[in-house]
Amino acid sequence: MEHLGPEPPRAEKRCRILIRGCQLPIIRYELSIPDYRYSMLWGMSRWIIHVDMDEFFAAVERLDNPALRGKPLLVGGDPKARGVVSTASYEARAFGCHSAMPMATAVRRCPHAVVLQVRGQRYHQVSEQVLDILEQFSPMIEPLSIDEAFLDVSGCERLLGPAPEIGKQIKQRIRGRLGLTASVGVAPNKFLAKLASDLRKPDGLVVITKDHIRDVLDPLGIERLWGVGPAAAKGLRRLDIHTIGQLRLAPVELLRERFGQVGDHYHCLANGIDCRPVVPDSRTKSIGREQTFAADIEDMDELIRVLLNQTEQVARRLRRGGLKARSVTLKLRYVDFTTITRSATLTEPTNITEVLWRGVRRLLDKWAARHRRPLRLLGMTASQLTGREGLQETLFPDPQRTGQERIDEAMDRITERFGDRSICRGGTNGADRK
Ligand SMILES: [Mg+2]
Repeated sequence: MEHLGPEPPRAEKRCRILIRGCQLPIIRYELSIPDYRYSMLWGMSRWIIHVDMDEFFAAVERLDNPALRGKPLLVGGDPKARGVVSTASYEARAFGCHSAMPMATAVRRCPHAVVLQVRGQRYHQVSEQVLDILEQFSPMIEPLSIDEAFLDVSGCERLLGPAPEIGKQIKQRIRGRLGLTASVGVAPNKFLAKLASDLRKPDGLVVITKDHIRDVLDPLGIERLWGVGPAAAKGLRRLDIHTIGQLRLAPVELLRERFGQVGDHYHCLANGIDCRPVVPDSRTKSIGREQTFAADIEDMDELIRVLLNQTEQVARRLRRGGLKARSVTLKLRYVDFTTITRSATLTEPTNITEVLWRGVRRLLDKWAARHRRPLRLLGMTASQLTGREGLQETLFPDPQRTGQERIDEAMDRITERFGDRSICRGGTNGADRK
């Protein structure tokens, strides 16, 4: 893996990176700067990480089919049906193919490319796995799209180490667990973090510190400003503003006059100022896991094992997000693709593995008693989610329940340190646990 990363000793270290042909000493790890200096300059000390998966759809296709390695890939719509490219692999980009281009054009530019259809469900599945990994670093995660997310890791230093180190660990874990690469940007705000992740793709790790913001920003073209589209770029060029440096030096009154309030925003970004917070995705309505089997499964022990594993993952995800679920749903798909769901409401919202498991296990047993036959897919979902703040603390906590909560906490800690397969409950191997 290629890093612009700090290797111990973690004193100051300069790296050089190439932007538009000129070498600039833009990246420096200054881990010795005390936080209060940032606090004074920024109002608060923040470290934001932007994670952007490299050529995501193509990378997933390559992961699922190693025979595609090294070949130019175009993932997207049918070239004959006016489809567009969703992802072009780097091999295809060398031929001038890029995303959002008509597939027919891309195929003309790179006739030997392998054209693949978008498999949305599979990409979502991997995207969820990436988010699971990110959640191990911070609960403050804002997904931007299926293959991009912001993390606010301010205040995580004591637990996880300095932010650049966290960025490095994120990359390593994504690669280790999923076999995929990500480009990571680490910076004091969202705009700079997003910019940083884009500076050295693929598999990059770029850190922008407070002291180097101008060195990074000034030479870049204005279209690199987040939110400046072609029309705004044209407007700026008309004012003879071509680089972010020129924009920084332009009188804010002029920008205001020309662009209104957005002018102020541009001026702030050009100065490397962006106060937008990382907003965790609160729209989550349900959290689920499902698995399509390579060969159909009828064996009850096997189904129980799969389902318990899914329940553990879902419960962990709930706990990490500070959420509790009021209902559980079992999803079953037969060999002929008929899909059925069975739901149950729990007596109270919970994120305790044991309680969720009892609910979903009862649904499976009920189904098996009457309709049992081979399955090609099994899944479970927790829904009717509530946040912790909406729940009243019980005055006299149920001692059995707090015991289960402690077990969950211990297991979460082990899983976070050693990965998913490091520990499993009794019962995951088929033992009955009603
Ligand atoms: Mg990407």
